[in-house]
Amino acid sequence: MSRVLIIGGGIAGISAAARLAPHADVTVLEGEDSLAYHASGRSAAMFLRNYGNATIKALNAASADHHHHADGGVLSPRGMMMVASAGHEEAFRADSADLGLDAITMDQAASLWPILNRDTITHAAYREDAQDIDTDLLIQNFARSARAAGAQIVTGARVTGIERMATGWRVTTADGQTHEGDLLVNAAGAWADTVAQMAGLTALGIQPYRRSMARIALPQGMSPADWPFVDGVGESWYCKPDAGALIVSPADEDPIEPQDAWADDMVLAEGLARYQEAVTAPVTRMLANWAGLRSFAPDRALVIGADAEEASFFWCAGQGGYGFQTAPAASQLLADLVLDRTPALDASTVAALDPKRFA
Ligand SMILES: Cc1cc2nc3c(=O)[nH]c(=O)nc-3n(C[C@H](O)[C@H](O)[C@H](O)COP(=O)(O)OP(=O)(O)OC[C@H]3O[C@@H](n4cnc5c(N)ncnc54)[C@H](O)[C@@H]3O)c2cc1C
Repeated sequence: MSRVLIIGGGIAGISAAARLAPHADVTVLEGEDSLAYHASGRSAAMFLRNYGNATIKALNAASADHHHHADGGVLSPRGMMMVASAGHEEAFRADSADLGLDAITMDQAASLWPILNRDTITHAAYREDAQDIDTDLLIQNFARSARAAGAQIVTGARVTGIERMATGWRVTTADGQTHEGDLLVNAAGAWADTVAQMAGLTALGIQPYRRSMARIALPQGMSPADWPFVDGVGESWYCKPDAGALIVSPADEDPIEPQDAWADDMVLAEGLARYQEAVTAPVTRMLANWAGLRSFAPDRALVIGADAEEASFFWCAGQGGYGFQTAPAASQLLADLVLDRTPALDASTVAALDPKRFA
């Protein structure tokens, strides 16, 4: 049985561990003291099946069944609406087609989203089959099946050295422990290039971009539980209900070094101002804010498969803004490739995800 070391305990690393553990001796090494501390603990937790380029859409489609049914399912109904003001008709039509949204009347939009400002918003489009993902449950489900199949998940294990040996890899953590494996899986999120370089391999240009979120109070008496996820045309901001309040993102995308990210006040203020134009409810109180890193490969598709220079080093990176919704299919592909099985995904999608496309 091969020994597989996985670096990273976010959704990418934990889903990979669950898929591999029945067939390999798996150890996950996570640098933080808990799983999902970075991007995987900071998402908007949506399943938007038309969000992303064609390769991402193929992964979304191939993940839907798992999200709906595995372990009782992790999805709950939400709906997605896009809104636009006059003068943005072309972008509204293009985004609606890309996201698979149907135009609706302003009356329909206002009944779905009572804070809609009819003085400023003139166009709306909607689809019902957008869902909330219980991201915590999804990770716990994957972690439970990984452990049940014998995987070891080690937290507080920051990898500081990676050494190629005659057969396999030796990895050293900050506390001086060593772990050996035949194969290495790089699921280090924003640190994916750093980990590759630590292993003596070429970085692929996986760039972290910061995305911020503000949690704001709504006027008393409003209960947003059934409101949809609402997107400003051109992804200029978005919001969704969150336990009686709203989370609003400026949909920012500032390139930044890998780090424990936090929100910039000015970015939040500008994003909230864009949101404010679309609604009648005043923004009075920010309850909390945070930011996370969405890490993209240059072509914005995930990077899944063996490294071009080193066949025993596997990339499971570049999840960008889609790491949860794509995780079931992405982890399945990673396991198929590590275990040398014919991938369940079609050949053109597999090729579009292959790290060798950058060689
Ligand atoms: C604001 C925001 C909104 C989002 N909304 C959505 C959404 O609605 N739907 C969706 O599907 N996705 C969404 N995403 C994207 C999603 O959150 C990410 O794609 C996903 O969490 C990435 O998972 P990951 O496991 O690759 O990275 P991470 O969760 O960052 O995990 C990588 C882990 O590797 C560890 N690590 C790094 N280096 C080392 C090392 N040397 N040693 C040991 N451990 C190491 C880190 O500590 C980290 O825990 C959103 C992201 C953000 C920021």
